[in-house]
Amino acid sequence: MTRLEERWRLVMDGVEQAARAAGRPADAVRLVAVSKFHPVQAVAELAALGQRDFGENYVQEARSKQQALAGLPLRWHAIGGIQTNKARDVAGRFHLIHSLDSRRLADALARRLAAGSGQRVLIQVNIGSEAQKSGVEARDLPALVEHVLAMPSLRLCGLMCLPPRCGEGEAARPYFARLRELRDDMQRRFGVELPQLSMGMSGDYRQAVAEGATLVRVGTDIFGPRPMSLKPRPLSDEEP
Ligand SMILES: *Cc1c(COP(=O)(O)O)cnc(C)c1O
Repeated sequence: MTRLEERWRLVMDGVEQAARAAGRPADAVRLVAVSKFHPVQAVAELAALGQRDFGENYVQEARSKQQALAGLPLRWHAIGGIQTNKARDVAGRFHLIHSLDSRRLADALARRLAAGSGQRVLIQVNIGSEAQKSGVEARDLPALVEHVLAMPSLRLCGLMCLPPRCGEGEAARPYFARLRELRDDMQRRFGVELPQLSMGMSGDYRQAVAEGATLVRVGTDIFGPRPMSLKPRPLSDEEP
Protein backbone atom coordinates (compact mmCIF):
# COMPACT_ATOMS: atom_id res chain seq x y z
CA MET A 1 0.00 0.00 0.00
CA THR A 2 1.35 3.45 -0.87
CA ARG A 3 1.54 6.22 1.71
CA LEU A 4 -1.25 8.02 -0.16
CA GLU A 5 -3.56 5.02 -0.03
CA GLU A 6 -2.79 4.56 3.65
CA ARG A 7 -3.65 8.19 4.46
CA TRP A 8 -6.82 8.08 2.37
CA ARG A 9 -7.99 4.89 4.11
CA LEU A 10 -7.33 6.47 7.51
CA VAL A 11 -9.47 9.48 6.63
CA MET A 12 -12.22 7.26 5.17
CA ASP A 13 -12.22 5.29 8.43
CA GLY A 14 -12.18 8.49 10.48
CA VAL A 15 -15.24 9.80 8.64
CA GLU A 16 -17.06 6.51 9.04
CA GLN A 17 -16.28 6.28 12.75
CA ALA A 18 -17.36 9.87 13.36
CA ALA A 19 -20.62 9.18 11.52
CA ARG A 20 -21.27 6.03 13.49
CA ALA A 21 -20.48 7.78 16.79
CA ALA A 22 -23.05 10.42 15.85
CA GLY A 23 -25.65 7.77 15.06
CA ARG A 24 -25.54 8.61 11.36
CA PRO A 25 -25.16 6.10 8.51
CA ALA A 26 -21.63 6.06 7.05
CA ASP A 27 -22.95 6.97 3.60
CA ALA A 28 -24.55 10.15 4.97
CA VAL A 29 -21.14 11.82 4.66
CA ARG A 30 -19.16 12.15 1.46
CA LEU A 31 -15.43 12.73 1.49
CA VAL A 32 -14.25 15.43 -0.92
CA ALA A 33 -10.51 14.95 -1.42
CA VAL A 34 -9.00 18.43 -1.79
CA SER A 35 -6.29 17.96 -4.39
CA LYS A 36 -5.22 21.58 -4.91
CA PHE A 37 -1.46 21.95 -5.57
CA HIS A 38 -1.09 18.16 -5.76
CA PRO A 39 -0.27 16.43 -9.03
CA VAL A 40 -2.84 14.80 -11.26
CA GLN A 41 -1.12 11.43 -10.66
CA ALA A 42 -2.20 11.55 -7.02
CA VAL A 43 -5.79 12.18 -8.09
CA ALA A 44 -5.56 9.27 -10.56
CA GLU A 45 -4.23 6.98 -7.84
CA LEU A 46 -7.14 7.75 -5.52
CA ALA A 47 -9.62 7.50 -8.38
CA ALA A 48 -8.38 3.98 -9.03
CA LEU A 49 -9.14 3.15 -5.40
CA GLY A 50 -12.70 4.40 -5.76
CA GLN A 51 -12.50 8.02 -4.58
CA ARG A 52 -14.93 9.99 -6.75
CA ASP A 53 -15.14 13.51 -5.29
CA PHE A 54 -12.29 15.97 -5.65
CA GLY A 55 -12.12 19.60 -4.56
CA GLU A 56 -10.09 22.32 -6.26
CA ASN A 57 -9.66 26.02 -5.47
CA TYR A 58 -8.20 27.34 -8.71
CA VAL A 59 -10.03 27.16 -11.98
CA GLN A 60 -7.04 26.65 -14.28
CA GLU A 61 -5.61 23.90 -12.11
CA ALA A 62 -9.00 22.21 -11.93
CA ARG A 63 -9.46 22.47 -15.70
CA SER A 64 -6.13 20.84 -16.46
CA LYS A 65 -6.88 17.94 -14.08
CA GLN A 66 -10.39 17.56 -15.48
CA GLN A 67 -8.98 17.36 -18.98
CA ALA A 68 -6.24 14.89 -18.03
CA LEU A 69 -8.76 12.60 -16.32
CA ALA A 70 -11.70 13.20 -18.62
CA GLY A 71 -12.42 9.49 -19.04
CA LEU A 72 -13.00 8.89 -15.31
CA PRO A 73 -16.37 9.21 -13.57
CA LEU A 74 -15.22 11.92 -11.14
CA ARG A 75 -17.20 14.66 -9.43
CA TRP A 76 -15.32 17.96 -9.27
CA HIS A 77 -16.08 20.47 -6.53
CA ALA A 78 -15.23 24.18 -6.75
CA ILE A 79 -14.35 25.12 -3.17
CA GLY A 80 -12.30 28.31 -3.52
CA GLY A 81 -13.37 31.92 -3.74
CA ILE A 82 -14.62 32.82 -7.23
CA GLN A 83 -14.21 36.25 -8.70
CA THR A 84 -17.20 37.42 -10.69
CA ASN A 85 -15.11 37.71 -13.83
CA LYS A 86 -14.20 34.01 -13.56
CA ALA A 87 -17.81 32.87 -13.47
CA ARG A 88 -17.71 31.72 -17.07
CA ASP A 89 -14.84 29.33 -16.31
CA VAL A 90 -16.74 27.78 -13.43
CA ALA A 91 -20.36 27.67 -14.61
CA GLY A 92 -21.34 24.21 -15.76
CA ARG A 93 -17.90 22.74 -15.17
CA PHE A 94 -18.26 21.48 -11.63
CA HIS A 95 -20.57 18.96 -10.02
CA LEU A 96 -21.02 21.38 -7.13
CA ILE A 97 -19.91 24.95 -6.45
CA HIS A 98 -19.39 25.35 -2.68
CA SER A 99 -18.42 29.00 -2.60
CA LEU A 100 -21.33 31.09 -3.86
CA ASP A 101 -21.29 34.17 -1.65
CA SER A 102 -22.94 37.08 -3.43
CA ARG A 103 -25.79 38.09 -5.70
CA ARG A 104 -23.29 39.37 -8.20
CA LEU A 105 -21.65 35.97 -8.46
CA ALA A 106 -25.00 34.20 -8.66
CA ASP A 107 -26.06 36.50 -11.48
CA ALA A 108 -22.73 36.09 -13.27
CA LEU A 109 -23.00 32.29 -13.07
CA ALA A 110 -26.60 32.38 -14.28
CA ARG A 111 -25.62 34.44 -17.33
CA ARG A 112 -23.36 31.57 -18.37
CA LEU A 113 -25.90 28.82 -17.79
CA ALA A 114 -28.95 27.67 -19.70
CA ALA A 115 -32.18 28.27 -17.77
CA GLY A 116 -32.79 24.66 -16.81
CA SER A 117 -29.16 23.64 -16.37
CA GLY A 118 -29.52 23.13 -12.63
CA GLN A 119 -25.96 23.98 -11.62
CA ARG A 120 -25.71 22.78 -8.04
CA VAL A 121 -24.48 25.41 -5.60
CA LEU A 122 -23.91 25.89 -1.90
CA ILE A 123 -23.88 29.29 -0.26
CA GLN A 124 -20.71 29.97 1.71
CA VAL A 125 -21.37 31.64 5.04
CA ASN A 126 -18.73 33.73 6.82
CA ILE A 127 -19.53 31.85 9.99
CA GLY A 128 -16.90 33.52 12.17
CA SER A 129 -17.76 36.94 10.72
CA GLU A 130 -14.08 37.48 9.93
CA ALA A 131 -12.95 40.58 8.05
CA GLN A 132 -10.74 38.72 5.56
CA LYS A 133 -12.98 35.74 4.88
CA SER A 134 -15.21 35.26 1.92
CA GLY A 135 -18.74 34.15 2.51
CA VAL A 136 -21.98 35.94 3.11
CA GLU A 137 -22.65 37.31 6.61
CA ALA A 138 -25.29 35.33 8.47
CA ARG A 139 -27.60 38.36 8.61
CA ASP A 140 -27.47 38.66 4.81
CA LEU A 141 -28.06 34.96 4.22
CA PRO A 142 -31.88 35.02 3.92
CA ALA A 143 -31.78 37.62 1.14
CA LEU A 144 -29.18 35.65 -0.81
CA VAL A 145 -31.05 32.37 -0.32
CA GLU A 146 -34.23 34.01 -1.61
CA HIS A 147 -32.38 35.42 -4.62
CA VAL A 148 -30.75 32.09 -5.54
CA LEU A 149 -33.95 30.09 -5.03
CA ALA A 150 -35.61 32.32 -7.62
CA MET A 151 -32.96 31.56 -10.26
CA PRO A 152 -33.98 28.76 -12.65
CA SER A 153 -30.42 27.90 -13.66
CA LEU A 154 -29.10 27.40 -10.12
CA ARG A 155 -30.07 24.64 -7.73
CA LEU A 156 -29.36 25.55 -4.12
CA CYS A 157 -28.38 22.39 -2.22
CA GLY A 158 -27.19 23.75 1.11
CA LEU A 159 -24.53 25.75 2.93
CA MET A 160 -20.76 25.73 3.33
CA CYS A 161 -18.39 27.30 5.87
CA LEU A 162 -14.75 27.68 6.74
CA PRO A 163 -14.49 28.45 10.46
CA PRO A 164 -11.80 30.72 11.90
CA ARG A 165 -8.32 29.24 11.69
CA CYS A 166 -7.88 29.24 15.44
CA GLY A 167 -11.02 27.16 15.73
CA GLU A 168 -9.72 23.76 14.68
CA GLY A 169 -10.78 20.57 16.43
CA GLU A 170 -13.27 20.92 19.25
CA ALA A 171 -13.05 24.72 19.07
CA ALA A 172 -14.62 24.60 15.59
CA ARG A 173 -17.68 22.73 16.77
CA PRO A 174 -19.86 25.70 17.72
CA TYR A 175 -19.32 27.15 14.22
CA PHE A 176 -20.46 23.90 12.63
CA ALA A 177 -23.50 23.77 14.89
CA ARG A 178 -24.27 27.36 13.94
CA LEU A 179 -24.14 26.54 10.21
CA ARG A 180 -26.54 23.65 10.75
CA GLU A 181 -28.92 25.93 12.67
CA LEU A 182 -28.77 28.51 9.89
CA ARG A 183 -29.57 25.77 7.37
CA ASP A 184 -32.53 24.55 9.45
CA ASP A 185 -33.71 28.12 9.72
CA MET A 186 -33.54 28.66 5.94
CA GLN A 187 -35.39 25.40 5.31
CA ARG A 188 -38.24 26.50 7.57
CA ARG A 189 -38.34 30.04 6.34
CA PHE A 190 -38.42 29.17 2.64
CA GLY A 191 -40.05 25.74 2.82
CA VAL A 192 -37.27 24.03 0.88
CA GLU A 193 -34.90 21.14 1.42
CA LEU A 194 -31.24 22.16 1.79
CA PRO A 195 -29.70 18.76 2.47
CA GLN A 196 -26.00 19.55 2.07
CA LEU A 197 -23.69 20.93 4.74
CA SER A 198 -20.10 21.30 3.49
CA MET A 199 -17.95 21.73 6.57
CA GLY A 200 -14.86 20.21 8.14
CA MET A 201 -11.25 19.99 6.94
CA SER A 202 -8.17 18.02 8.04
CA GLY A 203 -8.11 19.50 11.53
CA ASP A 204 -11.79 19.21 12.34
CA TYR A 205 -13.73 16.89 10.02
CA ARG A 206 -14.71 14.58 12.90
CA GLN A 207 -16.36 17.45 14.77
CA ALA A 208 -18.05 18.57 11.55
CA VAL A 209 -19.50 15.10 11.01
CA ALA A 210 -20.74 15.09 14.61
CA GLU A 211 -22.57 18.35 13.84
CA GLY A 212 -24.18 17.10 10.65
CA ALA A 213 -21.70 17.63 7.78
CA THR A 214 -22.69 15.81 4.61
CA LEU A 215 -19.55 16.85 2.71
CA VAL A 216 -16.14 17.09 4.37
CA ARG A 217 -13.30 18.73 2.44
CA VAL A 218 -10.00 17.11 3.40
CA GLY A 219 -6.65 17.90 1.77
CA THR A 220 -3.59 17.63 4.00
CA ASP A 221 -4.63 14.51 5.90
CA ILE A 222 -4.95 12.67 2.58
CA PHE A 223 -2.26 14.14 0.33
CA GLY A 224 0.23 15.41 2.93
CA PRO A 225 1.46 19.00 3.12
CA ARG A 226 0.85 21.08 0.03
CA PRO A 227 3.97 21.86 -2.02
CA MET A 228 3.81 25.64 -1.72
CA SER A 229 6.41 26.17 -4.42
CA LEU A 230 3.89 24.82 -6.91
CA LYS A 231 1.19 27.12 -5.65
CA PRO A 232 -0.66 28.49 -8.64
CA ARG A 233 -1.41 32.18 -8.71
CA PRO A 234 -4.79 33.04 -7.27
CA LEU A 235 -7.62 33.81 -9.65
CA SER A 236 -7.28 37.52 -9.14
CA ASP A 237 -3.81 37.44 -10.70
CA GLU A 238 -4.66 35.29 -13.68
CA GLU A 239 -5.07 36.71 -17.15
CA PRO A 240 -8.71 37.13 -18.10
C1 LIG B 1 -7.58 23.90 1.08
C2 LIG B 1 -8.98 23.81 1.54
C3 LIG B 1 -9.45 22.68 2.24
C4 LIG B 1 -8.56 21.54 2.68
O1 LIG B 1 -7.80 21.92 3.77
P1 LIG B 1 -6.87 20.88 4.60
O2 LIG B 1 -6.61 21.59 5.87
O3 LIG B 1 -5.65 20.68 3.77
O4 LIG B 1 -7.65 19.64 4.78
C5 LIG B 1 -10.81 22.64 2.56
N1 LIG B 1 -11.64 23.65 2.23
C6 LIG B 1 -11.22 24.75 1.57
C7 LIG B 1 -12.19 25.82 1.24
C8 LIG B 1 -9.88 24.87 1.22
O5 LIG B 1 -9.47 25.98 0.58
